[in-house]
Amino acid sequence: MRDLKMTTLNGTNVDIAIVGAGPQALTLVTHLLKKKQSMRSRFVVIDPAGDWLHQWNHQFAALEIPHLRSPAVHHPDPNPHALRAFAEEQPDELFPPYDLPGTQLFREFCQDVIRRWGLQERVISGRVQQLEVFSSKRKPQQLRLELADGQWLVAKQVVLAIAGGTPNLPEWARTLPLTYPSDRLLHSHQIDLRGLQLAGERVLIVGSGLTSGHLALGAIAVVQT
Ligand SMILES: Cc1cc2nc3c(=O)[nH]c(=O)nc-3n(C[C@H](O)[C@H](O)[C@H](O)COP(=O)(O)OP(=O)(O)OC[C@H]3O[C@@H](n4cnc5c(N)ncnc54)[C@H](O)[C@@H]3O)c2cc1C
Repeated sequence: MRDLKMTTLNGTNVDIAIVGAGPQALTLVTHLLKKKQSMRSRFVVIDPAGDWLHQWNHQFAALEIPHLRSPAVHHPDPNPHALRAFAEEQPDELFPPYDLPGTQLFREFCQDVIRRWGLQERVISGRVQQLEVFSSKRKPQQLRLELADGQWLVAKQVVLAIAGGTPNLPEWARTLPLTYPSDRLLHSHQIDLRGLQLAGERVLIVGSGLTSGHLALGAIAVVQT
């Protein structure tokens, strides 16, 4: 296959196109290569950032999350003990009581996974905006992916690893008049605790899951600093 970073994509043929370069895509790729090394040059990963884990890293930094929610066996390497082995030099980065990996440790571990599996060059920059069935005489059933910049490629199989995609606001939140200040109603995806000014403000968080907990603690910390 052509050098994906250097040339236009138009007409590139791959076996698998993975849309999104988050932890799901990274996990899929390492498991795929573990089973079949020959797939190395036959898949491509597409993400607007043109890099692995951009969204994940942003999310953790913006919500100032010190450690993961999931224990040390949950990570993108096929070897379940790989993260624990990687953390041997940094035992303080496994948080009690369940050895939850620190955000920094997890980021460094993922970079190590990307390096060990030689995956840095497999992500190309682009936002997929259309998917359609593509038939030619030689290969009847394939999929054509069109990117926002007009480039396109053809794949036998496509994996959508795009998580929730765009935040889905419920109907009652979408009916506010356009004159309402847009920074007064935000989805958790749009919040960046770094640089927020909340002194004297009253904040209502709708929802009471783990993300709400992170945001409540983050808001208190912002006011106290
Ligand atoms: C506060 C908080 C704490 C969390 N803690 C944990 C934890 O401890 N452990 C855990 O496992 N999970 C945790 N999560 C969940 C975790 O963030 C998500 O489950 C994880 O990011 C999902 O991985 P993903 O690869 O599916 O999606 P993402 O990491 O969101 O990656 C999807 C990628 O797809 C790209 N994309 C979207 N649309 C397109 C398109 N049209 N074309 C090309 N690319 C596109 C996006 O830009 C993005 O880079 C947490 C989430 C939050 C909010």
